[in-house]
This record gives sequence, C-alpha cells and structure tokens, in this order.
Amino acid sequence: MGSLADLHCHSTFSDGRLTPTKLVDLAYRNGVRILSLTDHDIVDGLPEAFEAAKRYDDFTLIPGIEMSTDVPGNEVHILGHFIDRHNPAFLNRLKRLQESRLNRARLMVEKLVQLDKPVSWERVEFFAGEGTVGRPHVALALVEAGHVTSVNEAFDRYLSRNGPAYVSRDRLGPEEVVALLLGVGGMATLAHPRELFAAGTLESLLEALQAAGLTGMEVYYQDYLPQEIKTFHDLASRYGLIPLGGSDYHGLGGPQQREPGDIPLPTEPVQKLLSLAEERGALERARIAHAR
Ligand code: AMP
Ligand code: FE
Ligand code: FE
Ligand code: ZN
Repeated sequence: MGSLADLHCHSTFSDGRLTPTKLVDLAYRNGVRILSLTDHDIVDGLPEAFEAAKRYDDFTLIPGIEMSTDVPGNEVHILGHFIDRHNPAFLNRLKRLQESRLNRARLMVEKLVQLDKPVSWERVEFFAGEGTVGRPHVALALVEAGHVTSVNEAFDRYLSRNGPAYVSRDRLGPEEVVALLLGVGGMATLAHPRELFAAGTLESLLEALQAAGLTGMEVYYQDYLPQEIKTFHDLASRYGLIPLGGSDYHGLGGPQQREPGDIPLPTEPVQKLLSLAEERGALERARIAHAR
C-alpha cells in the first residue's frame, strides 16, 4: 500500500459509507497526504472534509466532484479537481441534478415493486442519507430486504444499465460537463476508462474531450492490471493528458474495492496537476476555502 495521493474517493454525501471526516482520517492513516473528495454530482461534503483536513498540517485536500455523463450505450464519469465550490450557478446546476436523481430513484423503487422485489422508499432514503441518491442506495435496500446477497449482485440482476429496474438519470454530455468544470476554475479528468476502452469508444471520446479542454485521465485505478495501466498511460501521452488516478473508495465491499491510497499512482503526475492549479490561481482559492 501507499500512494502519496488519492484523487478519487466518495463519502456519505454520495454513495460512500464513511463521513468526510472518517474518510480523511482513514486516508491519512494509510499514508495519503494529498486527497480529493469527489462525491457524485455534489460538493456539500467539502466543508466537513476541509474541517477534518485542517487537523493535519502535512495534508492537502483538493476540492473535487465526480460528474455522471452519458454517451450512447455507456456512462462517462468526469472528475473535477480544484472546482470553485461556492459558484452560485454551479451550485444551482448541481441542485437540479439532485432533484432529478431523487425522481429517478423513486421510479426504480416502483419498478422493483412491479418485479416483485419490493424495497421501501424510506430505506432507500435512509441509505442515501444527506446527499446524492444513487443506485448503490437502492442496492443496499435490496440486500437488506433479502432479495440479493450483495451490492454487486443487485447491480448484476436489477440495476445495471441493461437491468430490469434501471432508470436513466438526467442526461448530460461529457463535453458539456468538461466545459462546466473548466468554467468554475476546475480541471477535468476522465475517470475509469476501462469500459469505454472495451466498447471501442475511448479514443474518439478522448479526441472530443481534448478539444473541450480535458486535463487528465485516470490511469491508476482499483484493480487495473499493469498491462491496462500501460495502455491507458500511452493513450494519455498521445492526447496530452496527465496520467492520474484514485482508489474510487466507497467502503461498500466487493472484490474491486481498494482502500484509500492503495493504488500505484506516482507522485510526479500529481505534482503536475498541483503546478497547473497554482498557475491558474486555483491553489490559492483552495487555501482560501480552507481558511473559511
Ligand atoms: P448512479 O450514479 O446512481 O447511476 O450509480 C452509479 C454508481 O453505482 C457508480 O458510481 C458506482 O459507485 C456504482 N456501481 C455502478 N456499477 C456497479 C456494479 N456493477 N457493482 C457495484 N457498484 C456499481
Ligand atoms: Fe459511486
Ligand atoms: Fe465513477
Ligand atoms: Zn467514483
């Protein structure tokens, strides 16, 4: 174990099981000194994460987000680092995404009732807690109700994109989201490219997103094998992207799960991201946010 940085983690403000404070503490214990909290479509966990980060003087927290976007046949997740988490128009956009996720989760619960695998809306709300509601919360309710034995099984049988209880979210395009993140001073990184690579659509997407201003691609991720890492590293070089990475820690279990910092992410590309942020004044802003 032991990368210095982990640029992709979730908390209770989306579908992670740890509060931002507990996540920061776990990452610190694991040796992580540069962490980004990247909850799905929400920044509301960042104030707590900054409070927790303040307790360590050799620790940098990068304000982050992971945004869900869609292309035909696949989902594309884009990480935003160093975003201005106080921008009113951005916050408004995120609020509308929250509302649409809520309606969509209710529709999935209705579908499960029709499939004779009922879960109660109250339990989904309970698992979702204070932030973004997503399919993992429906999955936890399915496990609790005894319809499946694991979150992974809930996805395999009901909730995956082709599953019988799946309902799509508000559709955003990846270019649109890259522009949105750059517009709030952020840097955009394409997350976990394995599925897109397998579908044969990664390169055309990278071409389009490079033109839109993409900064990085996640190359070091969970169970990615050395051969895959090499493939993605080569692609990142070809498109002028910083090869970044993260554990995508959720604390939900499953064989793909890695602890914060348990990825072979070297420090050098992270330093490159920090330098870029400094050039753009984003580090300064992050420090101000820290002080607030
Ligand atoms: P949503 O944003 O509500 O569509 O849910 C997507 C989230 O569900 C992802 O960010 C993952 O955390 C999780 N997820 C997606 N596919 C699977 C899977 N096959 N097994 C377990 N979790 C998954
Ligand atoms: Fe997630
Ligand atoms: Fe993701
Ligand atoms: Zn994630």
